[in-house]
Amino acid sequence: MKYSCQKGTKDILPEEVYKWQKAESAFAEICGQYGYKEIRIPTFEQTDLFLRSVGDTTDVVQKEMYTFEDKGGRSITLRPEGTAGVVRSFVENGMSSLPSPVRLFYNITAFRYEKMQKGRYREFHQFGVEAFGAEGPAIDAEIISILVAFFERMGLKKTKLCINSIGCPTCRAEYNKILKDYFRPHLSEMCEDCQSRFEKNPLRMIDCKEEKCGAIAAKAPRLIDYLCDDCKAHFEGLKANLEALGISYEIDSGIVRGLDYYTRTVFEFKSENVGSQGTICGGGRYDGLVSEIGGQPTPGIGFAMGAERFLLEMEAQGIEIEKDQKVQLYIANLSPETQIEAQKLAFGLRKQGIGCEIDLMGRSFRAQMKYAGKTGIPFLLVLGDEEISSGKAKLKAMADGTEKEIELSGIADAIRSWNA
Ligand code: ATP
Ligand code: MG
Repeated sequence: MKYSCQKGTKDILPEEVYKWQKAESAFAEICGQYGYKEIRIPTFEQTDLFLRSVGDTTDVVQKEMYTFEDKGGRSITLRPEGTAGVVRSFVENGMSSLPSPVRLFYNITAFRYEKMQKGRYREFHQFGVEAFGAEGPAIDAEIISILVAFFERMGLKKTKLCINSIGCPTCRAEYNKILKDYFRPHLSEMCEDCQSRFEKNPLRMIDCKEEKCGAIAAKAPRLIDYLCDDCKAHFEGLKANLEALGISYEIDSGIVRGLDYYTRTVFEFKSENVGSQGTICGGGRYDGLVSEIGGQPTPGIGFAMGAERFLLEMEAQGIEIEKDQKVQLYIANLSPETQIEAQKLAFGLRKQGIGCEIDLMGRSFRAQMKYAGKTGIPFLLVLGDEEISSGKAKLKAMADGTEKEIELSGIADAIRSWNA
C-alpha cells in the first residue's frame, strides 16, 4: 500500500525549509524589536471557543472547521486561526493584570476544510500578533508597521495596504438597518448563505464570494459613511499615524473581514503582482472579544499573515531567499581507519563552531570529490594515512581551488582566518 499526504496538506522538504526558517526568524526578530513576546498555544480547543469568537455565521465556522468528538465525548476543533486561542489564554492566565499593552506574537499551523487552490490549503501556517489593552489608534499603526518592517526585511515589494473601519456595535446597529433596506429588494437573487446572513449578520453579505452577490454588494451603502463620532476619530487617528510613519494605504470599504469579532480598524495587505494569490495578510481590532469569552472588557487588535501565501508571493516577485551554508568543511577519507579519524576530527571541529560533513559510505575518492563539489561546501580536506601520521593536511578553498598546508589541530583557525 502506498500512502500519500492528505489533500490540502504538504511536506516542507529540506530544499525549501530554509526559506521558512529565514521568514520565521525575521518575523520573530522584528516582533522582538517591538517588544512582542512569543506565545505558543495548543493546536486544538473546545469547539465552542471558535463558535463564540470567530462567529457562527462565518464561512470558517459554517464550512471550514475540523471538528470531531474525542474519546471522552468532547467536541474538539483544530484551530482554524490563532486569535481565539490567544484570547482564551490571555483570559485564562490572567494576563490582564500585566502592564498594558500586552504584546504577543505567534507562529502556528491552522486548519480549514477548504477547496484546495494555489495558496489555499487545509493545513497552513500563520504568523500573527495580538496586542491587548491599548484603545487608541497608535497600536493599530504599530502592528501594521510590524508587517511593513517584515516585508522590507525580506525584500518583498508590490504589496498594498488596504484599511477600513467597520465601526462599533453602536454604529453597526444603525448601519445594519440601512444595509438590510438596501439588500431586501435583491434578496431573491442572492445565494442561500446571503439569505441566511440577511437576518443574522448582514455585514457578512458585503464580502460574499459568489459573483452574483458580489455585484449587488459592490453598490451597497458603505459602513465607513455611517461611523459614530468615536469610530470616525479612531479611523482619522489611524490614518494620521500611518502618514507619520510614511506608510501608504488605500481605503477599501469592501474589507469587512471573514471573522465576526472585528470592530473599528480592519486591514489587509494585498499583492499588487498580477496573477498572485490576493490577500497575504489580514487583521483588525476586536474590542469586544475578550469580554465575549469571559474576560474583563479589554480592547485588542491583531493580524495573521499566511506564511504559504507570503512565500508564494516572494517567489512570484522573483525575490530569492539566501540559503545558509551551515557546513563549512568536507573531510574526505579513504579507508575505515581514516574514516574514524575523520569522524573524530569532525566531532571536535563542530564543537569549535565549524560545521563538517564526512563520508560514511566508503565511497571512492572520486565519488567523494564529486559529492563535495555538488554540495557547495566551501572547504575541503583530504584525510589519508599520511596526513594522520604527519598531523598536517592541505585545506582547499573550493571557490578558487587555492590550497594551504595546515596543522590538523589548526583547522578551525585556518578556516576562520582564510580571507583575513
Ligand atoms: P481568504 O479570503 O483568502 O479566504 P481569510 O479571510 O479566510 O482569507 P484570514 O482568516 O484573515 O483569511 O486569515 C489570515 C491569512 O491567513 C490570510 O490572509 C491568508 O494569507 C491566510 N490563509 C487563510 N486561509 C488560508 C488557507 N486555507 N491556506 C493558506 N493560507 C490561508
Ligand atoms: Mg477564507
